Amino acid sequence: MKSDLLYDPLYDPLTSSNPGAGRDYAPSYWVASAGTPPKTDGPIIQDMDVDVVVIGSGSTGVSTALYLAQEHGIQAVILEANQTAWGCSSRSGGQGQNASGRLSRSQWIERWGLDTAKKLDREIYTGFENFQELVSQIDCDATDGGHLYVAHRPEKMAYLQNEARVRKEIFGYDPLLMSAQELRAQYCDDHDASGALLEREGIGVHPLKLTFGLLKKAQSLGIKIHTASPAESWETIDGVHHIQTPGGVVRAKRIAICTGGYGIQGLKPIKNRILPILSNSVVTRPLSDAEIAACNFLSHTFLTDTRTLRFYYRLLKDNRLQLGSRSSISGADADAPVHLKLLTDAIARKFPPLAGIQIDYSWWGWVDVSHDMMPRITQPDPTQKVWHALGYGGNGVSFSTWAGKRLAELVAGSKVNSEVFKLPIYNSPLEFPNLFGKVRSEAFAPFRRLGQSFLYKWYWYKDEK
Ligand SMILES: Cc1cc2nc3c(=O)[nH]c(=O)nc-3n(C[C@H](O)[C@H](O)[C@H](O)COP(=O)(O)OP(=O)(O)OC[C@H]3O[C@@H](n4cnc5c(N)ncnc54)[C@H](O)[C@@H]3O)c2cc1C
Repeated sequence: MKSDLLYDPLYDPLTSSNPGAGRDYAPSYWVASAGTPPKTDGPIIQDMDVDVVVIGSGSTGVSTALYLAQEHGIQAVILEANQTAWGCSSRSGGQGQNASGRLSRSQWIERWGLDTAKKLDREIYTGFENFQELVSQIDCDATDGGHLYVAHRPEKMAYLQNEARVRKEIFGYDPLLMSAQELRAQYCDDHDASGALLEREGIGVHPLKLTFGLLKKAQSLGIKIHTASPAESWETIDGVHHIQTPGGVVRAKRIAICTGGYGIQGLKPIKNRILPILSNSVVTRPLSDAEIAACNFLSHTFLTDTRTLRFYYRLLKDNRLQLGSRSSISGADADAPVHLKLLTDAIARKFPPLAGIQIDYSWWGWVDVSHDMMPRITQPDPTQKVWHALGYGGNGVSFSTWAGKRLAELVAGSKVNSEVFKLPIYNSPLEFPNLFGKVRSEAFAPFRRLGQSFLYKWYWYKDEK
């Protein structure tokens, strides 16, 4: 999987003019275990005219191209700056949740009222069912065990009890609350846990095998993917977008932006609309039978905890432990040892028999966070044939595949008058940041990282003290 250009661990979307052009993959466990990537159509080497360009080849971009071809007969061309699924889709925790964005269902009700929250729930759940269907068709190590939401302190059980009540009474799910003892006896001996909520909907996947599988499906329908071809900027002349890439100009009638947290400021419709936030992850060496017994690992069900700066973890199929959390604020500091230590300390705290265990893989990636922690699959300017699907806030493994389906409908102009497109994630824009919850303005964008750094300190205090 070597390319001519080395991976740049310090890449930062807010300060770089592009994410690279043909850079190597991040050294993730997924890259090491996905097998050979599907063949691509190589870099753009001359000017070309196309109907639809999809920018970005993560699970969002590839799903968009797949559904454009499969359901609308539109042959899109994918432009990818580096390698297929080079961004989050080759770096995630692979935890496919019945969720989109970071807000909980009770927060949906607070924000949008009961009626909208119920409709949103049906939409997200339909997306989850679609994800379930996709992973059953693609060999991607899928583990259908649900999601354990772990209370990291006794006081958090009241929060989980309320979440369980809301899910059951309002949305009709069948969640299961369990004590710390039940969690330890039935799933794993997590020493950090004061109890847990099992959401029965949740599928862990090998995210890169999944995205490669989606790409192969799309390629079988004629989709082309040009790697090492960053879209650097474009100008629109007589309704045609002239997209600049290092190897030539791609003229497209329609553009779908699927750049996740890697979108650059040169792409005007999304400039300053997304805050890229680093998340890091480690994978240990395979655990021995004795270590598995000492931690009482009885399942591969994935877990997250109730910290605002949450940890996500699971026992992978080959008995390695994966664990991740937030990382540094800027790319320049991403490889500082303190961020790795946050994860190794968490392993020791949650699973004391694994304290000091060898870490075989360590990597990080930029998550796309919107102004309200929820995604937007929209057309930012109704006069421009440009759409985007962005802002999953670290919860896009499952929903990105459905976002791609909806984005394809918007680009194709199909079903756009249906009720579902009135939901806030489809009919309200990505907004600029605000100050003290008041005025929104692009002028505040340069201060977002300062705010993020204060918030991290505050969240850490709330989570740990
Ligand atoms: C460490 C980590 C852990 C995560 N864990 C989970 C998890 O457990 N569960 C979950 O639901 N979500 C998780 N996520 C988020 C999840 O991975 C993503 O939401 C999901 O993969 C969808 O990604 P995407 O396709 O939107 O973007 P990406 O996969 O990031 O793809 C965007 C692509 O766009 C390309 N690109 C950017 N700019 C340009 C340009 N100008 N021209 C051409 N190409 C460009 C990039 O190179 C990149 O390949 C995690 C993310 C990270 C980083």
